[in-house]
Amino acid sequence: MDLVLKIGGADGMDYEAIADDIKWFCNGGGKMVLVHGGSAATNQVAAALGHPARFVTTASGHTSRRTDRRTMEIFQMVYCGQMNKGWVERLQKRGLPALGLSGMDGRLWEGRRKRTLKVVENGRRRVLRDDYTGRVERVNRDLLQTILKIGYLPVLTPPAISYEGEAINVDGDRAAASTAVALAARQLVILTNVPGLLRQYPDANSLVPFISAAHLADYLKGAGGRMKKKLLGAGEALAGGVERVVLADGRVPNPLRRAIEGQGTVIS
Ligand code: ADP
Repeated sequence: MDLVLKIGGADGMDYEAIADDIKWFCNGGGKMVLVHGGSAATNQVAAALGHPARFVTTASGHTSRRTDRRTMEIFQMVYCGQMNKGWVERLQKRGLPALGLSGMDGRLWEGRRKRTLKVVENGRRRVLRDDYTGRVERVNRDLLQTILKIGYLPVLTPPAISYEGEAINVDGDRAAASTAVALAARQLVILTNVPGLLRQYPDANSLVPFISAAHLADYLKGAGGRMKKKLLGAGEALAGGVERVVLADGRVPNPLRRAIEGQGTVIS
């Protein structure tokens, strides 16, 4: 397996340019698995449906989407519907054999649901028991390898499935990292709406071009918000044997080619 490509779902991404580059990569003989997000579209649909997105901060300082049952329904509409089938259509239009699946299908991504979520709201601690979030702990490698062997291009999306069979919202960057490890992918490319890790976010001139695995922990300490998940995913991928992780810009022409050439933040 050559590549796991994670395509972010934040505003500003050039999906058509990314799809063109996927075609270039696959037609050149490259084998890949795609993982996509859908955060911005989910926020829009949730607002339109009168159940606007809320984000919670856990006692340990992580921020995540509050995923009650209604949010999970909306999440599935957008991620498994609009976003996943949007990618399948974009790729099929280019002659690529895209096969869209969520992490629940065939238990592709399995993990533990956090039964209780300790959050801090207005300085006060609260325990949530109706949240559907978790983390991918097992990847159904046999199923993915079978799909690849018979020639399909897997297009994967959250949610994952809990051991008890419930849909769980998982972080797409870390799910992509787990997938890269399970398939022994050579590299993991994460396309997002920034040029890479910025030393002084949001100053685009402060791009960190290279991080060695040995120094990743230093950057993790300083990283905030959404970038932290990407660095955590990068660390998990490298620890699991992936040679190289690139965090790169998904808004520019030829985004995948540039990322593979090393434009962005290369972590190895
Ligand atoms: P995606 O859907 O692509 O995963 P996210 O919104 O989850 O996108 O993550 C990308 C965001 O991370 C950027 O838009 C930016 O707001 C945020 N971010 C936080 N800290 C940094 C940093 N140090 N460098 C770059 N981006 C950062």
